[in-house]
Amino acid sequence: MLKFGQTEQILEVIRDKRKIRNVGIIAHIDHGKTTLTDLLLAEAGLIPYNLAGEMRVLDYLREEQRRGITIKTANISLLHEVNGEKYVVNLVDTPGHVDFTGKVTRALRIIDGAIVLVDAVEEIMAQTEVVTRQALNERVKPVLLINKVDRLIRELKLSDEEIRRKLSRIIQDFNSIIDVYGEPPFRDEWKISASRGNVALGSALHKWGLTLETVRKRNIKFSDIIEAYKNEEWVRLQEVIPLHKAILEMVINVLPNPIEAQKYRIPNIWKGNLNSEIGKAMLKCDPKGPTSICVASVKLDPKDGLIATGRIFSGEIRNGDPVYLLNAGVKCVVQQVSVYMGAFRESTGWLDSGNIVALSGLKSIRAGETVIDLNHKDVMVPFEEITYVSEPVITVSIEPKDPRDLPRLINLLKILSIEDPNLMVIVNEETGEYLLSGIGELHLELAIKSISEYEPNLEVIVSKPMIAYRESVSKVGAITTVSSPNKHNQISIRVEPLSESILNILETSGKSAVNLHEDEERLLAVEKNKNILVDSTGKDYTKEDLDAIISGFKWACKSGPLCGEPVRGLKVKLIDVNLHSEPAQRGHAQIMPAVRKAILGSFLTANPILLEPISNIQISIPAEQVGDITNLIARRRGRISSITPRGLIFIVNGFIPLAESFGLADELRSISSGRAFWQSRFSHWERIPDNRMLQIIHSVRKRKGLPVEISDAKNFAP
Ligand code: GDP
Repeated sequence: MLKFGQTEQILEVIRDKRKIRNVGIIAHIDHGKTTLTDLLLAEAGLIPYNLAGEMRVLDYLREEQRRGITIKTANISLLHEVNGEKYVVNLVDTPGHVDFTGKVTRALRIIDGAIVLVDAVEEIMAQTEVVTRQALNERVKPVLLINKVDRLIRELKLSDEEIRRKLSRIIQDFNSIIDVYGEPPFRDEWKISASRGNVALGSALHKWGLTLETVRKRNIKFSDIIEAYKNEEWVRLQEVIPLHKAILEMVINVLPNPIEAQKYRIPNIWKGNLNSEIGKAMLKCDPKGPTSICVASVKLDPKDGLIATGRIFSGEIRNGDPVYLLNAGVKCVVQQVSVYMGAFRESTGWLDSGNIVALSGLKSIRAGETVIDLNHKDVMVPFEEITYVSEPVITVSIEPKDPRDLPRLINLLKILSIEDPNLMVIVNEETGEYLLSGIGELHLELAIKSISEYEPNLEVIVSKPMIAYRESVSKVGAITTVSSPNKHNQISIRVEPLSESILNILETSGKSAVNLHEDEERLLAVEKNKNILVDSTGKDYTKEDLDAIISGFKWACKSGPLCGEPVRGLKVKLIDVNLHSEPAQRGHAQIMPAVRKAILGSFLTANPILLEPISNIQISIPAEQVGDITNLIARRRGRISSITPRGLIFIVNGFIPLAESFGLADELRSISSGRAFWQSRFSHWERIPDNRMLQIIHSVRKRKGLPVEISDAKNFAP
């Protein structure tokens, strides 16, 4: 049995990159991924051997957690010897289910090979197909493990011949997935067959397994296995043909090392210049090149803070190294470099290209981040540009059933939003509600499910999903003059729609790039929801007065007059400002409400409109289902932007209002029998058709407890 002391040996072995394999296990639910992972952890001496199979690792980890040690993960670095040569197999935890937030893609990004696990009784299922397709998309090479073969023998009592037929059908079906979704050079090279040594069969529960090579080496026949079950001697099989050995040998013999893999994977997963210094270093997996690390996941460790798991594509990393986080745009220092030992991490102080690394000390790190050495921060291109949900497009409010659980819930929400960069937790200061925002209904559903996974006895109450809207105007409004509460100050304002070009500049380049092109106007402020305040009076304001005017402007933008949603795309122009000469008669309390009232008054005369969030949706489906899918999108007020064939499948791109995406996941699943693979993200805001606008305004007002009727513009005049 291997032990922790092996870390030194691991460090020795990985100096030769040809001795590294980075792999993950992917499977349909219940096909045996946990059981196999347990077995490998037990073989590495990371959980007691007798627990594997009988006690699931997660339970074991929970026990460990009670004792205050660990974090939940099944990453392992395994040392294994084949033909007298030592190898290191880094097994990375890959989410089994399809998830459109990028978790699966990120996990696949850092491995080069996948062990696809298939239940021999159930055969290939929808999820097997979908995750294999994702792996092929990332150019991750698959091997096949047909699991639960014991059931064919013991339960189903199939004959030798029937078992053979079943196994070859599974292999054939798997090869058709590669045929359909594999790219040309890999489509043929990666096909599965016994003679290629890339298929194994066995039983994770009974811990035996074999490949054609095992059959040859051990001189064992399939009929011997059937015989062993007949005689109730199958326990012996785990000694004669141990599963972990068959798996690790298969991985080492047929899956690529990082030098081989990075040659064809980098052009696929990184869009920078391949002829640049970093590009070349990554293509070669060069340990002497610039440090570049792609972070797949981030977990919060109660003791050590945030732990990032990533793949070093080039260069090396040591304790104390300063690094740059490209997405966050900050410099940090690595506290500790370690490798994974199941639930534990072993500090190594150093690691280089081709390896899976755990880094601590990087406070702003999030999943999907690109870590680069300081010298190359300006020339590096990120592996993934994370578009954070800066605009919470879909939100639920969440509270514990038992109010005493609130601190636990808050802590957990914080962890979830760190581990998933697309989740956002906001506290509504007015109502004290905790709001969880995400990129879609399914996304929030999964997040809420993970609350019960983390804290099984924390019961929560979740509201129905709410969609965020924006309020805007469609024409130039009337000049509105408002007096301050003490009547000593008068402010005249006119609002108008912000031009598309300025809106675009604000979206892409920020405030400093705004150029008004109108000489008599002076830019005073930009609000975060893309609204601007300009002055056309030519007057000079004291700092105090200007602050008060800007605060009133921001206050108005925060909650519009239609239904209290944020205002977007508004140009507010100060037409005239007459303030009392005594500072005591001006002040925030006078100026702020007057500015706000004038803005909202002019807003209501400017043909106000409501904007709704539109998602960009990408669906990949078999050719025969294209018609069904385009109908489905049209029914939900969506539109198709392109349909592109790729092999035997089609990629459909389009837009769909977020409000229409409720239940879409279920409908897609049922239309395509689970074969549609889809992603959606927030794309932009779009005007709601007039015939629907009033109804939505009323329902939002009702939800917020506002009077049903919108205020009249006249109510805002002096
Ligand atoms: P996962 O959902 O893919 O992680 O699947 P699990 O490892 O939790 O396994 C699901 C169920 O299948 C459990 O009850 C396991 O004990 C059982 N199982 C896993 N591997 C085998 C196997 O090789 N033979 C049999 N008979 N059962 C197995």
